[in-house]
Amino acid sequence: MTNEEREIIAANSDSIYAHQFTYRCAKLSAGGAIEACRAVVAGQVKNSIAVIRPPGHHAEPYQAGGFCFFNNVCIAARVCQKDFPTKCRKVLILDWDVHHGNGVQRAFYEDPNVLYISIHVHRGGRFYPCTNYGDHKHCGSGPGEGKNVNIPWPCHGMKDGDYLLAFQQIVMPIAQEFGPDLVIISAGFDAADGDELGQCHVTPAGYAHMTHMLMSLAKGKVAVCLEGGYNLRSIAKSALAVTRTLMGEPPDRLFSTEPTAAGVETVQMVIRSQAKYWACMYPKSESQADGVLQKELRGERLHDIYRAWQSKEWWDSFRMTPLFIHRDVLSKSFEREVLATSNYSESRPLLVIFHDPPDARGLPHARTSKLELHNVWVTDVAKSYVEWAVQNDFAVIDVNLPKHVTEENEDETYADPDESSSRSNTTFELATYLWENYIEVHESTHVFLLGIGDAYLGLINLLSNQESCTDRITFLISFVAETPLNRIRRPADEDEVARWFYQHSLIFVARKHGLWDRDRKPRKKFGRLVESAYDDLNEMLVGHREQVMRLLEQETEEWRLAQPLESQIGR
Ligand SMILES: [Zn+2]
Repeated sequence: MTNEEREIIAANSDSIYAHQFTYRCAKLSAGGAIEACRAVVAGQVKNSIAVIRPPGHHAEPYQAGGFCFFNNVCIAARVCQKDFPTKCRKVLILDWDVHHGNGVQRAFYEDPNVLYISIHVHRGGRFYPCTNYGDHKHCGSGPGEGKNVNIPWPCHGMKDGDYLLAFQQIVMPIAQEFGPDLVIISAGFDAADGDELGQCHVTPAGYAHMTHMLMSLAKGKVAVCLEGGYNLRSIAKSALAVTRTLMGEPPDRLFSTEPTAAGVETVQMVIRSQAKYWACMYPKSESQADGVLQKELRGERLHDIYRAWQSKEWWDSFRMTPLFIHRDVLSKSFEREVLATSNYSESRPLLVIFHDPPDARGLPHARTSKLELHNVWVTDVAKSYVEWAVQNDFAVIDVNLPKHVTEENEDETYADPDESSSRSNTTFELATYLWENYIEVHESTHVFLLGIGDAYLGLINLLSNQESCTDRITFLISFVAETPLNRIRRPADEDEVARWFYQHSLIFVARKHGLWDRDRKPRKKFGRLVESAYDDLNEMLVGHREQVMRLLEQETEEWRLAQPLESQIGR
């Protein structure tokens, strides 16, 4: 092959560079993996590490990619199965390279005797190899169903604690149940601390502990094959720690074993999708229902049931009824999202609250994950604000923002909350609709907007887009935990709007919010900010309730004093 031909091939491939010795190097690399694995299976050595390049785990049957030409570990696994059919029937390939080993998954996707487990950064399919092939839903097919386990991190920055958690809760239980005859580690070191491509922080001790755990399988028959890794120092230190462990040295002490929030969520998500394939893994559904029975038993999401109950309860307590909201897309999650007292059009103060559904905390059954209703508690803090406002003769419009919009005939699966940006857009649309149809046209003496959580940005958008807001709104009150802060954007009169905002807002910001990390005092354009002593939105709502009520009282004092005496005595 000429240089020119090689360049053409490289240019038409995905992340491939080739020179005149590439073919020979790739063969040597695959051969190295074969020999390392064969020697272990044959019992010539206890375990082995193959220091080989080019790597292999991205190479698919007919397609080189990601610096890979031949899929070294796949070839080695097959050779061992063929040469030692009784000694080496089942193989575990554990891939801790920071990228998903699409080639390995492809090769054994329908094979019940090769268990592939990959721990990698996935970022919703936006990290190399940039497909959804590495997500947790790909569990193998046909006879290989359940023999493919992806542990896809949603972000970079993963640490020893995350890898340990994945090992202790997923990798080791599954691997022990599978009972391999040989363990091959696809050992990329690009999740190592210091690798700028992987941007994760696995330490040499972390790699040593993972190796140590894997050595308890397959009577210690472990072969380690190098894959990716882009910081030579990190590779060297990590590979040395792995090799020392293989040679019998105990792993070093770990500096930290605390997982990140993303790690905990990913591990739980993977367990939910793998539990049905592994006897050792819980919680799992005990249902034997087929399609027809499943349809019969399909449940309703509790947030829909709760809002339906709430609208009845709030009618009884506060005489609140649903306001008509025109919607192009209808879902039962939206049916009763806006409730109002009947006096919303009268000349009196109006409080409009945008809030999340109430918080439910439950203790699920350990084995079935069923939440029995006596073990579920519902906390609805927004209600105490409504109660106070109604008692003080305010008109109230209450807007519930579902965290997830239930679709027709939806399966009973775990639903992540809708994107926070889409929830602030929903708030913006709803707030604009309410503003144009129910607030601006009426004669409220005061208008208070109260936005909780994701609703905050939607209300800022409303103020940016509706000029009349600044004339009519008395105060914008918000509770913000994680949402980034924003200013009102009206280029024509920026300074004036910023001044108005500072004088007419009270924004409680959680203690953990990134805003407080900076040294500089927060800019006034973000409104009047108050650092809360709490992190949780509900705790903030309770903790600052007095302060908010005092503000509402002060702002409406003149109006209250001007009311006929009997109505004042009546309170
Ligand atoms: Zn890699």
